[in-house]
Amino acid sequence: MKTLSFSCELPNGIHARPASHIEAVCNRFTSEITWKNERTGLYGNAKSVLSLIGTDTLMGDLCQLSIEGVDEDVAFEALNHFIEKDLPECDSPLETVQEDDEMIALPRNLSNFNPEIMRARAVSGGFGQGKLVRIGAINFDNLDTIAATEHSQECTMLKQGVETLKTSINIQLKAAVHTEFEVLNAHLSIANDPEFNATLENQLTHGKSCADAVFATAKHYGDILRSSSSAYMRERELDIRDVCFQLLQAIYGEHRFTSQLELDGPSICMADDLTPSQFLELDKSKLKGLLLTHGGSTSHTVILARSFAIPTLVGIDDATLLTYIDQEIIIDGNLGLVVTKITDDLKRYYDQEAFVAKKVTERQSTYRFEPGCTEDGKKLEVAANIAHSVEATSAFGNGAEAIGLFRTEMLYMDRTDAPEEDELYNIFCQAIEAADGKAIIIRTIDIGGDKPVDYLNIPAENNPFLGYRAIRIYQEFLPMVKTQLRAILRASAHGSLKIMIPMISSMEEILWVKDVLAEIRQELRSEHIPFDEKIPLGIMMEVPSVAFIIDQCCEEVDFFSIGSNDLTQYLMAVDRDNAKVTKHYNSLNPAFLRTLDHVVSEVHRHGKWVGLCGELGAKGSVLPLLVGLGLDEISMSAPSIPATKERIARLDSRACRQLLNKAMQCRTALEVEHLLAQFRMTQSDAPLISSECISLDRDLRNKEEVIKTLSDNLFLAGRCRYPDKLADDLWAREDVFSTGLGFGFAIPHTKSEHIEQSAISVCRLANPIQWGDEEAKFVIMLTLNKHAAGDQHMKIFSRLARKIMHAEFRDNLMNATSEAQIETMLKAELEII
Ligand code: PEP
Ligand code: MG
Repeated sequence: MKTLSFSCELPNGIHARPASHIEAVCNRFTSEITWKNERTGLYGNAKSVLSLIGTDTLMGDLCQLSIEGVDEDVAFEALNHFIEKDLPECDSPLETVQEDDEMIALPRNLSNFNPEIMRARAVSGGFGQGKLVRIGAINFDNLDTIAATEHSQECTMLKQGVETLKTSINIQLKAAVHTEFEVLNAHLSIANDPEFNATLENQLTHGKSCADAVFATAKHYGDILRSSSSAYMRERELDIRDVCFQLLQAIYGEHRFTSQLELDGPSICMADDLTPSQFLELDKSKLKGLLLTHGGSTSHTVILARSFAIPTLVGIDDATLLTYIDQEIIIDGNLGLVVTKITDDLKRYYDQEAFVAKKVTERQSTYRFEPGCTEDGKKLEVAANIAHSVEATSAFGNGAEAIGLFRTEMLYMDRTDAPEEDELYNIFCQAIEAADGKAIIIRTIDIGGDKPVDYLNIPAENNPFLGYRAIRIYQEFLPMVKTQLRAILRASAHGSLKIMIPMISSMEEILWVKDVLAEIRQELRSEHIPFDEKIPLGIMMEVPSVAFIIDQCCEEVDFFSIGSNDLTQYLMAVDRDNAKVTKHYNSLNPAFLRTLDHVVSEVHRHGKWVGLCGELGAKGSVLPLLVGLGLDEISMSAPSIPATKERIARLDSRACRQLLNKAMQCRTALEVEHLLAQFRMTQSDAPLISSECISLDRDLRNKEEVIKTLSDNLFLAGRCRYPDKLADDLWAREDVFSTGLGFGFAIPHTKSEHIEQSAISVCRLANPIQWGDEEAKFVIMLTLNKHAAGDQHMKIFSRLARKIMHAEFRDNLMNATSEAQIETMLKAELEII
């Protein structure tokens, strides 16, 4: 017998992935190979992934391999080499979408409550509360209904199921890369694992069904992994559950063990990954939030989630979250967090958030059905992006003036073959009906890149975004493309449709498409099928080369729509879906802004129309620059439309143009950001004291609630954009000394860049609360703009502090009967005109 001693240097210990590598090496030899963990004293068969995992080996554990058998010498040499050279390379931490320092800092008004939360990257805003459910994966619920057949038949079913599962994983492995490949490999090792198979067989006793055996096996290994001392290992329980679930599907069929998509009440759904069609299947009235382990901010499921205003986080640590299944949680898609324990304070915090959101919606409703138009009367159409006709009604309900982008590729995804002409025709007609005369730009299929379609068998590529995608695949799949164009043309007889081609990079492609279209038109004419003879043809402006042939393109096409998602990635050479390079993916880069300006002015110089349909269109902070560009239209996910229209209405197009000129002269994206911040500050001129910032006899229970409510109020009054940041600045002072002055008065105050128009806010409380060492019932909050205030801040503060020493002043404030009375009183006493 030979022995080999070493220490485990893998940061996450021996979990499924490294174990599958060890098992593979050991299985090349006939000798018996045993792994011993000296720390835990546990032994494991080194030819079994599960047995290895069961040794609970962590980083730094001393281990020993014993090799006994005819080929022990060669096995020893090979393993010695493997442990030293290969094992340390066998594991890299699973890709997480966000590093901690990229997380949005928690507002003090929330963190002061020490909430029990989990963080992840926020990709669709809003918040919601519901029961946590796991979807798109394991569902052992149907087990009771499966009765056992003859024992021998059950044994055969089990064996065949394992074989089917192995074949299926092997097929998936062929197309998988990176993390997905590693995970599938680990799953295959489990399916091949002798111990796993032995456990399955042992559990399949007389009278038991395969389902019983699989369930018992999942439980057996789940228990082992759950008791591991490593959190990482405990998380690997998911691998076993996944494999067992897939095995059940392989034995009984996917119809029997469906990936659960039915929701039975307000739910927050977690999933590893969700396909766009799975997302569409979910009942949106019950879906209160989405938690995904994978996915970037422009992945198509995420784009859909935004369109339905579903708060969404990506990169969530699903294994930890699994412990909260079936419990009520809150998802916050603005801050990027999940509240796992809803205390009274947190409930009140989110009630206040809901109150603010409701107020904002009410305010925006004034603009919702008005055309997008600046203060000085310049029109900017605001349109919606959709991916299916089912979204059209809600898009127009949100005030869309048109559909600026109908992404059709999703109609081709997650199915076994392409849709027929009639199916497409019906979908387009459905959208036309919802549009009620408004225009719809239908973009022809943009398949490839991050939008794979299995049945087209397009081989995986190293650089899918630079590869076989969109128009580039049209020639090979000509019949499918023609079917789509025919369906669009036929539907054009019933409403205002426009055709748009994605990812055009050269004149050759435009001319080719026009030839194909001409052929189809001819066909339809000869078949006497009506269509719009004047249907406009446009192209996506998303590959930079097109920016330099706009003059020529304008001779051939009627309009352009800037795909800022792709134009940014192609201009800056930054993969839009790669979390590692997100900081380079910045559309405020002056080079990008100059490109946009060049495109818009060139297109207009040639008398054509240009819109923008990337995610940039919905970014409120960038809107002045888009207005400055003089675009004809911006198209975005529908929930952003009312807010965008409201913002446009407050902008002056000439000031925006000047701002854009300055932005294009900036040298860095950060300078552009500062410029935008300065611009916002000069937007309006509100008085220091006004009754909208005064509230009386409020039921607020602590300092956090007071500071939050008053800051939110300033946000609602249009005086600040980021109430949380303003509140944090107030807290920075409270940390140094609490601002309770005695006599029931407190004066929280700050000089901050986050208040755009300085304000004195007032809040008289229904009941006194603790304010540092004092009690407070009457709060006067000073928030003065950092750049505009000069020495006003301290002057007002000391004048107020002096006045509060006088009982009469205090009594008048405490006993005032209206906001207006307080406003007049403060103005006079503080000598503010
Ligand atoms: C874009 O690239 O900006 C765009 C709108 O298209 P997609 O996101 O579908 O690539
Ligand atoms: Mg694009």
